[in-house]
Amino acid sequence: MNTTAAASSSTESVPQRTLIQLEGLSRVFETTEVETHAISDVNLVVRAGEWVSIVGPSGSGKTTLLAVLGLLDSANKGTYLLNGQSVLELSAEEQAQIRNRHIGFIFQSFNLIGDLTVYENVELPLTYRGMPAAERKARVEKALERVGLSHRLQHLPGQLSGGQQQRVAVARAVAGEPLILLADEPTGNLDSKNGESVMELLSELHKGGATLIMVTHDPAQAQRGTRKVSLFDGRVVQDEHLRQAPPPPSPKPV
Ligand code: ADP
Repeated sequence: MNTTAAASSSTESVPQRTLIQLEGLSRVFETTEVETHAISDVNLVVRAGEWVSIVGPSGSGKTTLLAVLGLLDSANKGTYLLNGQSVLELSAEEQAQIRNRHIGFIFQSFNLIGDLTVYENVELPLTYRGMPAAERKARVEKALERVGLSHRLQHLPGQLSGGQQQRVAVARAVAGEPLILLADEPTGNLDSKNGESVMELLSELHKGGATLIMVTHDPAQAQRGTRKVSLFDGRVVQDEHLRQAPPPPSPKPV
C-alpha cells in the first residue's frame, strides 16, 4: 500500500485528534472573606494543529485557565482530558511528569535561569525527563537553531536582549516536542519589533504543526490564531473560528 498517498488524502476530511477536552471545569479561590470564581463551568475542546487565542478583560480568568491547562494549578470541579488521559486526579508527581513531557510553557517574563547558559536553560527540562546526553544535545542544538540562536549557546540570559531571551524560552518550550504549547502574554515584556519577531516565530512553529494556546490582551495578536475564545467573569462567552488550522505535517520518512 502507498502509505504516503493514504496519509495525505486522509488529512482533508479526517478531523485532527483531540488533545484537550475540558468539561464543566471550575476553579474557585477561597479566602476567609471572599470566594472568587476564577473560572466557572468551562467546556473546551482543542484539537491538534489549532492556535487558540484566549482573550478577555483583566480578572476574567485567562491566567487561571492556562495554569490549570498546564497542570500548574488544579481545578475544584470538572474533568480535564489531556490526550485522552484524565489528569486532574493524578498525583502531583504524575502531573509533573506529564507537564514535563507534554506541555511547553512560554511566559511573559521569560522565566530563564540567570546563572545557567542558554544551552543549559534549554537542556534542563530534558535532563529532568531523564533523556540521555546525546539526545539532549541534538534536541537543544536543533531547538536553538530553530529560533536563530545557535551562535549564543554559551551566553547567559542577562547578556541577551529581551527578544533573544524570549527566543531561548521558546526553544526550551519546543525542545521536548510537547503536545501543546501554552503561552501567557508572550510579547508582554517586549518592544513592538521584538514582539513581532516572537510572534513570527510562533507562527512558523504553528505552520510546522505545533498546537498553541495563547493568552493575550492584544486584539491584533489574538487574530493570528485559528480560533479566539473570549472569557468574561471566568466563563467562556464567545468561541470564534478565525481560520482553518494548517494540515498536519507529512509523516516523516522511515
Ligand atoms: P486574568 O488572567 O484574566 O487577568 P486571573 O486568572 O489572573 O485573570 O484571575 C481571575 C480571578 O481570580 C481574579 O478575580 C483574580 O483576582 C482571582 N485570582 C487569581 N489567582 C488567585 C489566587 N491565587 N488567589 C485568590 N484569587 C485569585
